[in-house]
Amino acid sequence: MNKREKVLFVLLLATLIIVILAKAREDCDQPIYVAITIDTERDVPPLLNSFKGMDEGMPLLLELLDKYGVAGTFFVTGNVAVERPNAIKEIAENHEIGNHGMYHLEALYTLSYEEKYKRVESSTILLEELIEQNISSFRAPGHSCDTELINILEEFGYTVESSAYKKDSYPYHPSRTDWTTAGAMEILRIPVSNTPEYFYPFFCYGESWVTAYKYVVASQSEKDKMLVVVGLHPWEFCEMDLGEEYYATQRICGAETYEKLEELLLYLQQEKVKFITLSEAYELFK
Ligand SMILES: [Zn+2]
Repeated sequence: MNKREKVLFVLLLATLIIVILAKAREDCDQPIYVAITIDTERDVPPLLNSFKGMDEGMPLLLELLDKYGVAGTFFVTGNVAVERPNAIKEIAENHEIGNHGMYHLEALYTLSYEEKYKRVESSTILLEELIEQNISSFRAPGHSCDTELINILEEFGYTVESSAYKKDSYPYHPSRTDWTTAGAMEILRIPVSNTPEYFYPFFCYGESWVTAYKYVVASQSEKDKMLVVVGLHPWEFCEMDLGEEYYATQRICGAETYEKLEELLLYLQQEKVKFITLSEAYELFK
């Protein structure tokens, strides 16, 4: 081996060692997954009967997700599927469609077993016929899940229920007799993250979403993989006139939410987190 060959050999060896060390570091780091979820419903239900969020807010939100290469999970209500079918079909081309119940009127836990069953059945058929795909993720309207509902969802083949409820928001398989505690059901609960409040714009008002994100990550430091679930609504991306009584909701609508989301997505892109949909999260966390 001449001098030039020796230098080349040493350089090659050094490169190889650096690559192996970098890979080993990657492997021992806890991976962080982020799911952006969107409750795709009429404006501020049950307050309004308009679809300004779908018509004006949704295009802005979709553009932002597209800019950062994020596939989200859109929980669509039956009545939005009826009123805005083409918008939902278009979203389904690049994102996961989940079920957000039929009407978004009363809380599902106030209804009889038969009525809950009917609502799940009719919204599932409606959405699956519209997008010509199976639906596997559900979030109860107003996060109004209960034990009867989770059993109905499993019967229909749903693999994810994503209502916010538990203090600890890490994914868990619920018990057949109490949906809020861990048990042996196949379906996986993947709640909206706690920041310590839920990770929705109105709960994060006045604070950076990056700070809220860091809180969730810190709260999962003992887990071998982490999952941050962000909750959004299309109506939060345009100005809404809700009057004095609902000013707390109104103040986050428009530029505030748009800017906070873009700041978070930019940060997450730099951090190289992995964006996933909730059906992908099921495969990783089941
Ligand atoms: Zn909702």
